[in-house]
Amino acid sequence: MPGDTPEPPAEDLRTLIPEYAALARETTLLNPEPGDPGVRESSLGGELLWPADEPWPYCAQEDHWTFGSDPSNRTEIVPGAVPMVPILQLFARDVPGLEFPEGKDLLQLVWCALVHEQDPGPVVPRLYWRNEAEVVAGGLLSGIPEASEGEYDEEHVPEPSTLSPATAEDFPSWRDLPEDVWETWEPRFRSPTGGSVWPPDSNVIGTKVGGWPAWTQPAHWPDCEGGHRMEHLLTITGDIQLGDCGGVYFFHCRRCPGLPWDWRFDCH
Ligand SMILES: [Zn+2]
Ligand SMILES: [Zn+2]
Repeated sequence: MPGDTPEPPAEDLRTLIPEYAALARETTLLNPEPGDPGVRESSLGGELLWPADEPWPYCAQEDHWTFGSDPSNRTEIVPGAVPMVPILQLFARDVPGLEFPEGKDLLQLVWCALVHEQDPGPVVPRLYWRNEAEVVAGGLLSGIPEASEGEYDEEHVPEPSTLSPATAEDFPSWRDLPEDVWETWEPRFRSPTGGSVWPPDSNVIGTKVGGWPAWTQPAHWPDCEGGHRMEHLLTITGDIQLGDCGGVYFFHCRRCPGLPWDWRFDCH
């Protein structure tokens, strides 16, 4: 019935809930712009600084197919592993807010851009922490396989983009409110019809490092095998088409040796 649902207040959660304002974290928004990023530059979907002595990663999912042994013959299609695609490369100099493991100053991310029947999103991502000077000194891998149309789900391959990182204050999405904050405040935002109408939150939506995940679905934080709630490492969202996906979220645990990490994605 019209009139049953109260208008959301003009203020947002920051002004309405003191506990919420205290949850501020710094995030680095990456602000990708289509361009021609170099291999020594931070990029989304750009060429990665890849060591010569490390084979390029492939996804060997059973039902994958690829082109035959003659790369010029696009009609020969055979079952086989497909090269992963470059997603993100971040140099420490561009994201001062990101803490790198000792001796590392380069973070790279790749994933498989083919659709995996079991999962609707981009899957089997891999993260690499490297030392730029060591990679350069050892020489770069030549002949990195390129994404070719038809072999990939284009929605999972970002357009090569340069980054213009900028820091911002980030707050949790209302989906991420701590339980006690939720329980204290939810009754105040309850509508007469039984639902609750939350004022706008101040979660920063975009491809970003640190801060809070920009969930589009209920929050789903991973724990490491040691039982620690992982920290949000980075979110990729909005700046590339991800099929039905809202975003892909990466997490890691800095309390455990080897920096275990995990990822989540959510779909509309
Ligand atoms: Zn795959
Ligand atoms: Zn841990």
